[in-house]
Amino acid sequence: MADIGLVGLGVMGANLSLNMAEKGYTVAVYNRTTEKTDAFMKSAGPLAARLVPCRTLTELAEAVAPPRPVVIMVKAGDPVDEQAQVLSGHFGRGDILIDCGNANFRDTRRRVEEYKSRGIDFLGVGVSGGEEGARHGPSIMAGGSEAAWARVQKIFDAISAKFDGEPCCARVGPEGAGHFVKTIHNGIEYADMQMIAEIYGLMRDGMGLSAGRMAKIFRRWNEGPLKSYLIEITAKVLEAADPLSGRPMVEVIQDTAGQKGTGRWSVMEAQELGVPATVIEAAILARSLSAQKPARLAAEAMFGAAPRKLDPPLNQGDTALSVLENALLAGKIVAYAQGFEVLGKASETWGWHLPLATVAKIWRAGCIIRSVFLDDIARAVAASGATVNLMTIPPFAGLMKAANTSLRAIVAEAALKGIPVPALSAALAYFDYLRTGRSTADLTQAQRDFFGAHGFERTDAPGKEAHGPWALGLG
Ligand code: NAP
Repeated sequence: MADIGLVGLGVMGANLSLNMAEKGYTVAVYNRTTEKTDAFMKSAGPLAARLVPCRTLTELAEAVAPPRPVVIMVKAGDPVDEQAQVLSGHFGRGDILIDCGNANFRDTRRRVEEYKSRGIDFLGVGVSGGEEGARHGPSIMAGGSEAAWARVQKIFDAISAKFDGEPCCARVGPEGAGHFVKTIHNGIEYADMQMIAEIYGLMRDGMGLSAGRMAKIFRRWNEGPLKSYLIEITAKVLEAADPLSGRPMVEVIQDTAGQKGTGRWSVMEAQELGVPATVIEAAILARSLSAQKPARLAAEAMFGAAPRKLDPPLNQGDTALSVLENALLAGKIVAYAQGFEVLGKASETWGWHLPLATVAKIWRAGCIIRSVFLDDIARAVAASGATVNLMTIPPFAGLMKAANTSLRAIVAEAALKGIPVPALSAALAYFDYLRTGRSTADLTQAQRDFFGAHGFERTDAPGKEAHGPWALGLG
């Protein structure tokens, strides 16, 4: 009998099944569209010997040895409920439904409760790494009961990416914790990608660099503190030529970006928790505005294109490039600091006890934001032992002290030349606000008290509610 079942042979499910089969597990597989199952079996090569194709969910349930673990890897939302409902009709106590898609953690919380009442465990497991990761080792963020996880952990450890031999796979907390961590991972991914795109825009439009030249620069940066999967693939993308036109591939790609929802969820959850995630928010704004191509063309015609050419010393040479590199590093520190703050606050709010150092550790390999930087974060969080702002602890505090001037120089010059850098600007604004000991919220509080009698705290009488003279008709 099969060790595990898997429903949904799309990009991720097919590759996860092959990964499990390669690690020695027998996997019963099912897909709604049967032709896809047939095509998958044909393409599986020698691994087909460890795959059991099933035509129905009943067949799948019967093919897996109880207690049955069954992975659901289908489109998030209603399809997960539909597949889980049917499967659970064949399930008994101890069987485990494992949703490995990009679920909204609120759905996962509901499903965990719903199935608990029927004696069935439900695990919400975030999987990152795309097609390649699913096939050869993704980063895995599990949520759900400890007992259920203990029964399947071995399989997930085996298929996960490894960093220095350690599996990038962990149970991060109960119920929706795994999917929440995956959501924030994706939010940080949006921020990381957007800041890289903004630096690319400064090089392309502000410095007039060719795609080939930019590829070399990103490749060089991939040997320094920015070393990461996203920088590595940026270099590869920039050096690729279009087989049809022979032009750099990026030049023939439409400048409108898609998004599926996890980035937006991460900002919505951050807002709910009252934690600023402004760099992620700016990245989502940029994707949304990118999609408004006709509106952008009309506005360009109406207002004229911005000059965009940067002035010396930021328009060429190694000094300008090192300013860009440091600006990106500073922006990245802020984006990760915000992401980890959201995780910390969610952990406190939902009582999850998220192991933040472990989260950083399991992101070091396998996932899209994997980088050496995450190894530094893992060590820094473990050493600080608390959910303090990453930006304020070593080594990031020192890096930020050194690199914030580059971020400022770039954001200021971009503003003067009309190059949009929403994520880098948001990072700088956050940094500046955070280090402003006395903010301008005194005026905001006065206004709130003036029109709504909301009261304020006096600087010389903390803890007591006070009102301004306007409350007495004296203002
Ligand atoms: P995909 O290639 O588009 O495949 C979608 C799968 O869902 C197919 O097996 C499809 O079956 C099935 N499906 C859709 N609607 C269904 C329904 N109503 N009932 C039953 N099955 C249904 O998707 P994917 O990229 O593998 O993604 C699967 C999940 O993983 C999603 O939650 C996605 O967000 C998440 N994810 C994706 C990536 C990535 O890089 N692609 C990375 C991490 C996580 P049919 O063949 O019958 O249509």
